[in-house]
Amino acid sequence: MTQKAAIVGGGVIGGGWAARFLLNGWDAAVFDPDPEVERKIGEVLDNARRALPALYDKPLPPEGALTFHDDLATALEGASWVQESVPERLDLKHRIHADLTALAPAEAVIGSSTSGFKPSELNAKGARAIVAHPFNPVYLLPLIELVGDPDECDRAAEILRSVGLYPLTVRKEIDAHIADRFLEAVWREALWLVKDGIATTEEIDEAIRMGFGLRWAQMGLFETYRIAGGEAGMKHFMAQFGPALEWPWTKLMDVPEFTDELVDLIAGQSDAQSGHLSIRDLERLRDDNLVGIMRSLKQSGSGAGGVITAHEAALEVPQIADLPVTLDIQVPQTWTDYNGHMNEAHYLEAGAKATDQFMVMIGADADYIASGLSYFTAESHVRYLNETHEGARLQVETQVINGEGKKLYLFHNLLSGGGLVATVETLLLHVDLDTRRSCPPAPKVAEALVRIAAAHAVLPKPEGLGRFVGQRP
Ligand code: NAD
Repeated sequence: MTQKAAIVGGGVIGGGWAARFLLNGWDAAVFDPDPEVERKIGEVLDNARRALPALYDKPLPPEGALTFHDDLATALEGASWVQESVPERLDLKHRIHADLTALAPAEAVIGSSTSGFKPSELNAKGARAIVAHPFNPVYLLPLIELVGDPDECDRAAEILRSVGLYPLTVRKEIDAHIADRFLEAVWREALWLVKDGIATTEEIDEAIRMGFGLRWAQMGLFETYRIAGGEAGMKHFMAQFGPALEWPWTKLMDVPEFTDELVDLIAGQSDAQSGHLSIRDLERLRDDNLVGIMRSLKQSGSGAGGVITAHEAALEVPQIADLPVTLDIQVPQTWTDYNGHMNEAHYLEAGAKATDQFMVMIGADADYIASGLSYFTAESHVRYLNETHEGARLQVETQVINGEGKKLYLFHNLLSGGGLVATVETLLLHVDLDTRRSCPPAPKVAEALVRIAAAHAVLPKPEGLGRFVGQRP
C-alpha cells in the first residue's frame, strides 16, 4: 500500500520534504495556511523532478499523489510520517506539536525540521516529536540529523533510508545539532572577514569553492586532515596545527553586531556577486552541480555517492518485452552539451552501464570480479539515430548476439521518447584479472550466458547489426 507523509508547513524546507517523499512513491498531504502554498510547492517539485531522478541509473518508483488540506486532521489521516517545517519560533512549534501529538496516528513518526531547538524544548509541553533536521535542497542532499528518543530515531532512520536519505543520529541533544554548529563557526568568521574589510562575499566564496569545499564533499574534515599529516598521520597533523588554535587566527566566539551598515555591506556585495541571476537560476545551477558531483561520487562510493548506490540497489527496473532492460535513466543535465542534446560520449556511457548490468544478470558481478575474473571491452560501434534531451527517460534493451566461450557480443538499443535514438554494439572478451589475458568464464557465468543467448537467438536480428562507419573515407 502507498505510504503517506503529512507535510506541516510547506515553505522551502517543507516543499523539499514533500518532493523527496513524492518522488519516492509516497503520497504527500500538505497543511499550510499560506494561499501561495500550491505554487511554492509546485516550483520546488519542478526542480526536484529534474534533479533527483538524474542521480540514479534506475527509475524511482511512480510518483505519489500530492494533496493540499485546510484541515490539519485530514492531512494527518493515515500518515506514517509527519514532518513539521513551520518557521523557527518556539511558541509556534509548541502550538503545532500539541496538535500533532493529539491528532497524528499513534504509529506515525513526528519529525521536526528545526535547525536549532532540542527535542526537550520542542516536547516541553508534552509533545512526542523527534528532530529530523534536513539540508536544503531536501530532495537532493541526503543528510538528516536525528535527535531524540533512541527507539523513535531507529524507526525513523529505517524510513528515511528507504527514501534515499542518510540519517545521522546525534548522540546527545545540543542547540543546533552537529552541522549547524559547525556552519555557525564558519558564518561567524565570514561576517568578521567582510566587516573588517579583509574579503568580499565573492572572495570568501572563492576561498571555499576553489579549495577546501571540494575536499569536504568527498572526505569531510578529519579524513582530509589525516592525509594532510602525511605518512606521520593524524598525531603529527595535530602537533603541527594544534597550537594555531591558541593564536589569534580566528575571532573565536565574538559575533559582529548586525548593524544596518554591516547588513548593507553584505547584501550589496552579494548583489554585485550574484544579482545577475534569479533565485530560480541559482537553484538550478546548484542542483545541476550537485547532481554532477554526486554522480561522480558514486564511482568511489564516497560520501553521498555511497548513499545513492545503496538506495539504487533496492530499486526495480521495469521490464518492457522480450529483451532485458539493462538501463533506465533520466538524462542528467551534465550529459547534455552546447547543442542542447545528449552528448555523444554519454551514448557510449549508457551502453557501458547497460553492459555492466548485463554482466550482473549473468553472475559476473562485483563478487565475481573480486574473485579475479571479468570481461574487458574489445570493440564498440555507436550509431546516433536521434536526439535526446535533459530530463528525458532513456531505456536500454540488450540483445545477446553471441555468448559462446570467451565472447560476449551484445547489441544495445537505446530508446527514448517512444523511439530508437541510438544503438551500441559491443564485443567483450572474458579475462583473468591476474594474467590480464582472455580465458573462459566460470561455469555458472557461462551457463547463465548460454541460456540467455539461446532465448535471444530466436528473436529477429537487430536492424543495423554489424554496421561500420557508413561514409566512404
Ligand atoms: P519558510 O518560511 O520557507 O516556510 C515556513 C512555512 O510554514 C511557510 O510556508 C508558512 O506559511 C508555514 N506556516 C506558518 N505557520 C504555519 C502553521 N501554523 N501551520 C502550518 N504551516 C505554517 O521556512 P523554512 O526555511 O522552510 O524553514 C522551516 C523550518 O525548517 C524551520 O524550523 C527552519 O529552522 C528549518 N530548516 C530550514 C533550513 C533552510 O535552509 N531554510 C534548513 C534546515 C531546516
